[in-house]
Amino acid sequence: AKKFVLARQCQGFPKESDFELVEEELPPLKENEYLAEAVYLSVDPYMRGYMPRVKLNTTMYGTQVAKIVESRSLKFPVGQYVLGPFGWRTHTVVPENGPTHIGMRTFLLPDLQGLPISLALGVLGMPGNTALFGLLELCQPKAGETVVVSGAAGAVGSHAGQIAKIKGCIVIGIAGSDEKGKWLTEELGFDYFINYKTQNVEEELRKAAPQGVDCYYDNVGGEITTTVLNQMNAFGRVALSGSISSYNSIGPFKVTTPNLTIVLQQLKLEGFIVTRWNHRWMEGIQQNLQWIQQGKLKYRETVTEGFENIFKAFTDMLEGVNVGKAIVKV
Ligand code: NDP
Repeated sequence: AKKFVLARQCQGFPKESDFELVEEELPPLKENEYLAEAVYLSVDPYMRGYMPRVKLNTTMYGTQVAKIVESRSLKFPVGQYVLGPFGWRTHTVVPENGPTHIGMRTFLLPDLQGLPISLALGVLGMPGNTALFGLLELCQPKAGETVVVSGAAGAVGSHAGQIAKIKGCIVIGIAGSDEKGKWLTEELGFDYFINYKTQNVEEELRKAAPQGVDCYYDNVGGEITTTVLNQMNAFGRVALSGSISSYNSIGPFKVTTPNLTIVLQQLKLEGFIVTRWNHRWMEGIQQNLQWIQQGKLKYRETVTEGFENIFKAFTDMLEGVNVGKAIVKV
């Protein structure tokens, strides 16, 4: 088995030397255990935020889709696939009732109706449920309202924007390249796109939303968020999903300062962690599956080949190389 352990606590943007590839011999299976072989690994922004809590010389945290290749458990038979927070490793000895990590659980892959199993890490998994519950429960978008999504071409953002379209909203996506913008407007049905790297977000937003913004699904925080908040309508709703613009900062963090607009427009801002809806997990997966089957929800994956390349996949994702969900194929 191979695994990446955290070799040192990274400062700022992660470096390859922060991780070490280690080989290890796994113990034989005990009763009620099984051996899971990684097939796809997920690289997600939260991993960067979580790194300070990973102990040195322990496996880097992360979820994966794995195949059960040996088993002494009746509940987890050989040949089935599991989704589990096993970390950056190729093989894992898993007890029948574990592991659970920061709210993420291990379970047999649900029936994805013939769709690729890798989607359990994206549109039919945690990012998909983040978009669905975050947008619908916190923003409660209504037909005709204007919804802005930042981090719009990523796994969560591209999904949230499409749900807002399904709900009949005018959708404006903000992301970091024109190629991403083309995908959002030409294939996913976003109404407007703003490239925050080359355009003036404030001016472009004024043009795209002369009527003001009702809902904001925020994946990035920082200056973009301040700019959007300043153009929100009274009683606007903001789902604070992530704040990736500050994840690699050494601090002080570039956070949005609560300002007078928030008060005067009586905005509602709410942070959330998707595991809040663990009790409705399969409902979210089923809804997203149905939208895909109805042709209402599209997805893209950016796949990096090879377990050894997971660090590159991780930093590529942090730098915005990915369109849609970033994953690693072992
Ligand atoms: P993405 O697929 O969106 O990948 C990250 C993207 O962030 C990059 O592609 C890049 O796109 C963008 N980005 C990177 N740096 C910056 C920056 N400084 N400013 C603006 N954009 C930047 O990842 P996910 O869809 O998995 O996650 C999106 C967000 O959702 C993250 O903030 C994450 O933490 C959050 N999240 C929250 C959860 C929750 O429970 N609350 C659960 C899952 C995710 P670009 O080219 O546009 O810069």
